[in-house]
Amino acid sequence: MFKALVLDQKDGKTISEIKQLDEDSLPPGEVIVEVSHSSLNYKDGLAVTGKGKIVSHYPMVPGIDLAGTVRESSVPEYRPGDPVIVTGWGVGERHWGGFAELARVQAGWLVPMPEGMDAVQAMVIGTAGLTAMLCVMALEDGHVTPDKGTVIVTGASGGVGSVAVALLARLGYRVAAVTGRATSGDYLQQLGASEILSREEMSVKPRPLEKQRWAGSVDTVGGVILARVLAETQFDGTVAACGLAASVDLPTTVMPFILRNVRLQGVESVQCPFERRKIAWRRLQQELPESVLGEMESLISLEQVPEYAEKITLGQVRGRTVIDLKR
Ligand code: NDP
Repeated sequence: MFKALVLDQKDGKTISEIKQLDEDSLPPGEVIVEVSHSSLNYKDGLAVTGKGKIVSHYPMVPGIDLAGTVRESSVPEYRPGDPVIVTGWGVGERHWGGFAELARVQAGWLVPMPEGMDAVQAMVIGTAGLTAMLCVMALEDGHVTPDKGTVIVTGASGGVGSVAVALLARLGYRVAAVTGRATSGDYLQQLGASEILSREEMSVKPRPLEKQRWAGSVDTVGGVILARVLAETQFDGTVAACGLAASVDLPTTVMPFILRNVRLQGVESVQCPFERRKIAWRRLQQELPESVLGEMESLISLEQVPEYAEKITLGQVRGRTVIDLKR
């Protein structure tokens, strides 16, 4: 038997309950992982609260990330005891996820734990951190180098934003951080931000083109803020857009694209191919020291997930929330 947070539907509402499940109830897959830690992402918040249509069918064990060790494997690539990570691939959405002591998954979804990283660190990073790294790689693909100017990160004290600020600063970029929280200034400066901008000032509807301020951006919020970032991006700049914490809309014009050669690059982590994932995880291990990861980390128990799920959907969670399955 193992412990899991199970979502179900009752009278059209999503309900969550901690249950003891039988190993036979696990979905099919090639590898059983003993999950030691998971993490809470925005998407998990939407799934657990039922505020967003994330879960394809019920009952569902949510949790889009997990880290632990292999218990059983029917493929030669993985052996019992191997430390592994899973993020994305529909885990916690279409396939039972990481908010449980055991998970059965496809071998192709696993990434071997990079040497020098442990399960807690992997889950401080999680999908949010992987996405931040993919955004940084998108900026590099767009030739945004530290000498080109400042990179602006929106939704900066959230999971993706925090890791993006820390990564960019470590890589030598000057980072401007946009936050709606007056209390986040010190935290963001500790992660490496040189400049803090208020959400309010970045939410003013822009003209089609504004003064050129940014060499690049990691945008986690969408909406008017993304439109303003685009209007303020300098010639040849790249904006990596990965999120919708503010809005799914993008009220912009074509002017930044056709007059300033601005590139808007979408970033998607769920189906990121294995080789790019491996590179991203290796770089995350190399670039993020323990002290920086510690700065972002909050540890909670499985029982606390519903409370934190609500908080993350309200933009009240700072940094990264790691779920300790043994707590
Ligand atoms: P978090 O909730 O941790 O962070 C989002 C941050 O956005 C908040 O902390 C807050 O930062 C800011 N924010 C919240 N509400 C608003 C608002 N109404 N207007 C402007 N800013 C707001 O979420 P994650 O970091 O986990 O995810 C961020 C986004 O990225 C989500 O939309 C998520 O769905 C998406 N995402 C996409 C992925 C992909 O593969 N494309 C993968 C992972 C996440 P502050 O308080 O500093 O203003």
